[in-house]
Amino acid sequence: MIIIWNGDPDGEEKLRAFHERMRARIGDEAFARHMRTQDLMKHPQELTEVQKALLRDALAPVLRDLEVAGQVPPLIREESREDLGDDAICAWIEGPDRSGQGIRVWLNGSAGYQLYSLAEQVQEWTADQWATWPPCPLHLDADHRLEPDIRDDEAVWYCPNDGQTVAAVGSLPSRRGRRGPAQ
Ligand SMILES: [Zn+2]
Repeated sequence: MIIIWNGDPDGEEKLRAFHERMRARIGDEAFARHMRTQDLMKHPQELTEVQKALLRDALAPVLRDLEVAGQVPPLIREESREDLGDDAICAWIEGPDRSGQGIRVWLNGSAGYQLYSLAEQVQEWTADQWATWPPCPLHLDADHRLEPDIRDDEAVWYCPNDGQTVAAVGSLPSRRGRRGPAQ
């Protein structure tokens, strides 16, 4: 991290020196990626049609689990604000207050890991919206959420209290009989 005041006559030189130190420390490839991410934060790049389709397919089970829980889905921006090369499709999700976070569809692991990771990232986003998602259907009065995990190569939700697998991610039971969604 470096702070250079606007109007600092040596600002450009300081920034150049800072970048050279960083390049020496993390290597050319990582440095190029870092600079590209900096640029993408300022100028997000729209995903390609292939990437958009992959993103939608990958997210569908998680969005379905949001819906059955009565949870408002995020606004999905099909644009990347970071560069992870061929390792991941990077997009952005936002809440109603426009607070957002990056979301990564990992392409370098198993299908189970990819879905597990998306469940975890979306759960993190719901936590920022003060939601307990997904609510544990085994302990309706306890007000705790399920956690994602990988079991038998499959992404699942389990209860952190007793460790029991509740459902595959994308197959969460609907909450019939419960009151309206948590606000
Ligand atoms: Zn539970």
